[in-house]
Amino acid sequence: SVTRRPLMAGNWKMNLNHLEANLLVQKLAASLTEQQLTAVETVVLPPFTDLRTVQTAVDGDKLLIGYGGQDLSPYQSGAYTGDISGAMLAKLGCTYVTVGHSERRQYHYEDDAIVNAKVAAALANGLTPILCIGEGLEIREQLRHVPHCCDQLDGALKGLTAEQVTKVVVAYEPVWAIGTGKTATPEDAQEVCGEVRKRLVETYDQGTADQVRILYGGSVKSSNVASIMSQPDVDGALVGGASLDAEEFAKICRFP
Ligand code: PEP
Repeated sequence: SVTRRPLMAGNWKMNLNHLEANLLVQKLAASLTEQQLTAVETVVLPPFTDLRTVQTAVDGDKLLIGYGGQDLSPYQSGAYTGDISGAMLAKLGCTYVTVGHSERRQYHYEDDAIVNAKVAAALANGLTPILCIGEGLEIREQLRHVPHCCDQLDGALKGLTAEQVTKVVVAYEPVWAIGTGKTATPEDAQEVCGEVRKRLVETYDQGTADQVRILYGGSVKSSNVASIMSQPDVDGALVGGASLDAEEFAKICRFP
C-alpha cells in the first residue's frame, strides 16, 4: 500500500486580523513538536490581509507550518479589481490555495469551469490547489452524492495531465456538515473519498490516484478526527471553526 503524508489544513474563512493571525500561528507552532509537524503536515489558510504577517512569523522563526490563500484569480494579472493572483500568493511563500470552496460556489457563483481555471492557475504558479467538492443536503437525501462529487471532480480537473493531478489535494466537504456541528460518519467520509480515488484510477491510473491526498471537511474537531482519519482513503482534514483555536487545532494535528 501507499503512504500519503497526512495533511491538516485550517481554513480561517473571514476571521482573524493580522495581529490575531500572528498570535495564532505562534501559539500553534509552540503547541506542536518538530516531530509532530514532520509527521503531519500542518497548514493554515488565512484571509489575504494576514498572509504577509504569517509569512514573517513563519520565516522569522523557521516554523514548520505551511500557509496559503483561500482563493485565487484564474488570471495572471490585469484589470480584475479585488482579485489576487496565484503569482502574488506564491511570491508571499504560499504553498497552498483552496479552490471551489462551497462558500465560494454559493456566494460567488463559482461553477465547474471557473474552478477548473483556478486549479490550472494554482498549478501554473507552483501552488497546491486544495480542490473542494461536496454535495448539499438535498442531493444527499436523494442519494446522488457520489455522482455529484465525481462530476465536480471531473469538471475541476478537466484538461490536466496525470502528472498535474498528482499535485492536487481534493477535499470532500459535504455542505450539510460545514459549520453545522453535524459531522459525516467516518463511513460517509470513506464512501465518497473512496469513490473519488476510484474515479482518479479510471480517468488516470492507479499510480496517480495513489499519490493524491483526499481530505474530509465538515465539523472536524479533536474529538472526532481520529475516527475519520482511520479510514483508508481519508488522508487529512480541512478544518474551519476548530482551526481558529490554536490548542484545538494543535490537538487535531496530533491525532495519531
Ligand atoms: C470548511 O469551511 O472548510 C469547514 C470544514 O468548516 P467547519 O470545520 O467549520 O465545518
